[in-house]
Amino acid sequence: MSKVLIIGAGGVGSVVTQKCAQVPEVFSDIMLASRTKSKCDAIAQRIGQNRIKTAQVDADNVQELMALIKSFQPDMVINVALPYQDLTIMEACLETGVHYLDTANYEPRDEAKFEYKWQWAYHDRFKEKGLTAILGCGFDPGVTSVYTAYAAKHHFDEIHYLDIVDCNAGDHGKPFATNFNPEINIREVTQNGRYWENGKWLETKPHEIKKALTYPNIGPRNSYVIYHEELESLVKNFPTLKRARFWMTFGDEYLTHLRVIQNIGMASIKPVMYKGVEIIPLEFLKHVLPNPGDLGENYTGETSIGCRIRGIKDGKELTYYIWNNCKHQDAYKETGTQAVSYTTGVPAMLGAMMLLQGYWKKPGVFNVEEFDPDPFMERIGNYGLPWEEAFNVDLEV
Ligand code: NDP
Repeated sequence: MSKVLIIGAGGVGSVVTQKCAQVPEVFSDIMLASRTKSKCDAIAQRIGQNRIKTAQVDADNVQELMALIKSFQPDMVINVALPYQDLTIMEACLETGVHYLDTANYEPRDEAKFEYKWQWAYHDRFKEKGLTAILGCGFDPGVTSVYTAYAAKHHFDEIHYLDIVDCNAGDHGKPFATNFNPEINIREVTQNGRYWENGKWLETKPHEIKKALTYPNIGPRNSYVIYHEELESLVKNFPTLKRARFWMTFGDEYLTHLRVIQNIGMASIKPVMYKGVEIIPLEFLKHVLPNPGDLGENYTGETSIGCRIRGIKDGKELTYYIWNNCKHQDAYKETGTQAVSYTTGVPAMLGAMMLLQGYWKKPGVFNVEEFDPDPFMERIGNYGLPWEEAFNVDLEV
């Protein structure tokens, strides 16, 4: 029986809240708070029976957060607002003595830079207070990191090559839309590519490395090496890795739109003056693009995200592929959101359960691969994201 405070009422927040509500024996008391209270109320209404309390909070403001936490007194906070709010929410958790979990690493608003250093710097303070902070517990980062830990624990003596492969073979029927917060998504996919090889980071131009990879139940899709935040913690926690890369599929139409958005300056995060008001082009663009939370209704197709790993077992080379496929329509039927919100929200709920039940509880700040993967892997299928695995297959990468 635990109290949980969920912050952020977007697509992911909607899934986390609904999933927590489905497990009352663990999450007995739930509050959803966000910048816009009406969005929390709409989610609470969908769940019904007055199960969910709601509140308005500006998560950029530590004092406001502390006041809310003190009044509700949760055991932990699940942060599914935006990465900009990670540090203020961590700070408020420390001050009020509650555990913390998020799905995306902190980035400063004025620089598209994904690094764990700001959040890792909180390790000693969380440790001293006997509190746990779990970082990156969505699907990627999140499940992909747990898959890696599971593979390393059960199937390999050493893992050498890791390729995380993320395919969205869905069709939402819109000429252009992003699957999660447009501002965060466009910042992520327009930056230079980066991957780990032989002890150092190698940089590429955006989308420079391209390959058609075959995804289960989907077939071949053009996949591009991009930088993704879990690579930073995985190469640190699995030092035997000789190479670690992250691939994401993009359709030609998506890339064309992205190129135009960049060429006309709309992806810029530098403020410009417009009619006497300072605006940031990318923040403005978010307001005219479709809301990712609303894409679900007509979304067909599925996602397929997994890890392709090569390493050594008993002196012999082994290849291993572990993945989950998630259909947009199934996610929509259950939660009213598309599969990207769903595949992020389910692991966030399960990570919170792992913490509250004591499986993933140790003082300090940790990435998910630093915990025992087994209790998480045993349960995730039951909560909607079953996994499959194949041994000694052609990894293509
Ligand atoms: P949305 O933009 O749909 O939702 C974000 C929510 O946070 C909104 O409700 C927003 O409020 C709220 N919010 C923003 N700023 C504040 C603030 N200062 N105070 C309080 N609330 C605030 O995003 P998503 O649901 O798509 O994504 C949520 C998070 O999940 C993001 O951090 C994203 O990076 C992460 N993510 C992680 C993935 C993974 O696999 N690890 C995959 C996909 C997403 P308002 O509605 O008023 O704007």
